[in-house]
Amino acid sequence: MRVLVISDIHANYTAFEAVLEDADDFDAVWCLGDVVGYGPDPNACVELLSEQPNLICVPGNHDIAALGKMPAESFNGDARRSLLWQQRVLSGSTMVFLDSLPKKVEANKNVTLSHGSPRDPVWEYILNTMTARMNLPEFATDFAFIGHTHVQSMFFYDEKEDRVSLEIPRVGLPISLSGRGIFNPGSVGQPRDRDPRAAYAIYDTEALVWEPQRIAYDIEAVQARIREAGLPEKHALRLAEGW
Ligand code: ZN
Repeated sequence: MRVLVISDIHANYTAFEAVLEDADDFDAVWCLGDVVGYGPDPNACVELLSEQPNLICVPGNHDIAALGKMPAESFNGDARRSLLWQQRVLSGSTMVFLDSLPKKVEANKNVTLSHGSPRDPVWEYILNTMTARMNLPEFATDFAFIGHTHVQSMFFYDEKEDRVSLEIPRVGLPISLSGRGIFNPGSVGQPRDRDPRAAYAIYDTEALVWEPQRIAYDIEAVQARIREAGLPEKHALRLAEGW
């Protein structure tokens, strides 16, 4: 099975469409949360996501906050402004969809899916090898797929040395997975690694191959919709630079 692994769409419909088109032929979609937040198209993104084949999706902190289930104070100024806007525009069906998502789920028997980390599915960021190492006992599967940091990354566990190493993947280079590890496909709608292209990964469940990908999309169109909606200018600017 060829799985499209995505995360942090952040209400960016144009980026999401570009990823779906670029990924082309896939049997399933695993989405690691933050479907809404920041961007101008929360309802359209949820609608398009819910149409995807064999979809598994976990919620992110922005999804839970948009439902009003988390104090807006947990977000900084601009993120909070955006959040209040999302809460105003979310449709009933978007809310039902987001509210139905399990926070942590096992997929295809050997992958654990969560937004932040297996230990703290909603909030913890896995940015370094120490946090990755501490998360290994928190999932029973070989692999964990996570989002939240908006950075494409791969943490490999060397069992003999009891050590985790971090690798930033080369785009388009397929990686054979063995042992245990934690993998992040990057962000579809708001990459933060100075590469503004939408990020995703393809995971082959039989060959155990992980393939990080990027695709350019019409950033200016999204910036125009952000400004039209009166969302923070910062969230328009950052898309062009990838931070
Ligand atoms: Zn996010």
